[in-house]
Amino acid sequence: MKEPEKKSGFNCPNCNFFIEVTLKSLLYAKSQDCPGCLTKFEMDRQESSRALNLMQNLNTVIDNIESVKDFSPENYKG
Ligand SMILES: [Zn+2]
Repeated sequence: MKEPEKKSGFNCPNCNFFIEVTLKSLLYAKSQDCPGCLTKFEMDRQESSRALNLMQNLNTVIDNIESVKDFSPENYKG
């Protein structure tokens, strides 16, 4: 059995089409169209702020990991 891909998004209340919401669209798009029935959804910033915060935290964690990569023990000498 194949595991379903984990995608973020929501089901269209109109046609039940799964609308994929990416981090980029969450951050920058003002609206999202349903590919199934072309209903336009205005992005509610307040509604999605929790998800936004989660994703921004994730980005911060990734940034931290990136900066740790620059760490080398030589910097600790002296
Ligand atoms: Zn739809």
